[in-house]
Amino acid sequence: MQFGDFAGNASIKRQLSSQIDAGHYPHALLIEGPLGSGRRTLARLIARAALCRHGEHAARPCGTCAACQKTAPPDLTELGGDGATLSVDAIRRLREDAFLLPNESAYRVMILAEAQAMTPQAQNALLKILEEPPAHLLFILTCDKRTSLLETIRSRCVCLTLAPTMWEEAQPVLTTRLPKESPEELCRAHSLFGGCIGQVIDGVGDGTFRQVLDLTPRIAAAIVAPNEAELMELTASLEKEKQLTVGVLSGLSLILRDALVRKYGGITTLSTSPDVAAQLASRLTAQRLTALMEQVEQLQFALARNMNNNLFLTRLCACLRAAAGY
Ligand SMILES: [Zn+2]
Repeated sequence: MQFGDFAGNASIKRQLSSQIDAGHYPHALLIEGPLGSGRRTLARLIARAALCRHGEHAARPCGTCAACQKTAPPDLTELGGDGATLSVDAIRRLREDAFLLPNESAYRVMILAEAQAMTPQAQNALLKILEEPPAHLLFILTCDKRTSLLETIRSRCVCLTLAPTMWEEAQPVLTTRLPKESPEELCRAHSLFGGCIGQVIDGVGDGTFRQVLDLTPRIAAAIVAPNEAELMELTASLEKEKQLTVGVLSGLSLILRDALVRKYGGITTLSTSPDVAAQLASRLTAQRLTALMEQVEQLQFALARNMNNNLFLTRLCACLRAAAGY
């Protein structure tokens, strides 16, 4: 199988290649991973490999055959990924199509992106397809965490877990996709967005990255400011900006790690704010810094669980101030 510029995840590529190069496709695949880790990209690559008309499995998707050239192949259906809830009716319609024979390929491929957006009823309707799938069907689900789906769904899928990329793996893709940015800036963005290439491309492209660089050190400093108002004011600008909040939390975690290393006499520059890291190191004990890092981790987890944003920001201020002992 050919993976184009899909970066990293070498063991998953090996696993897929060994199956697909032998012409074996599982009936149902579940690709899990954080936002921007390439779930949808990989799902489409596998779909294209299944639909490709190239004679040799090892070269799929070839990119040149009639099937690969089509922008909307008739045997490929994609649903979800737009943030809306996936209803039982949508899945029932999908189920009707799933049993139709493919038009021109060996497989009918269905991609269900952000499968965690299915209601429990929708998941049960999907289960009816996965329990007795027709031979021609390849079903590919993507989700943030497999545990957000019913166990009965998970047990019928081959699960693949995407990992964030290392900088060396991501660098060739990022320098091609974002040619105007310097390698230093891209490396910083890569670290800030946790190695998730999709987040880096979106964040640099839409200005979120710059905003994160501007806001994060100010928020970090406000954690230890004399009164809480400063932190509340700064975090208010995160309202309705979930991606910015994700970036700021990653940035905070880097500053806190720098501060903790300083506390033990070392110097790291994971963040771009050595002055704020030094300030936190001088004001807080190692225990407080560790507690803050744990809080940031819990906040990242809560954010990924789609907590109400206003509630989330109130919690963020209260938790960070309390962990710092302010
Ligand atoms: Zn092809």
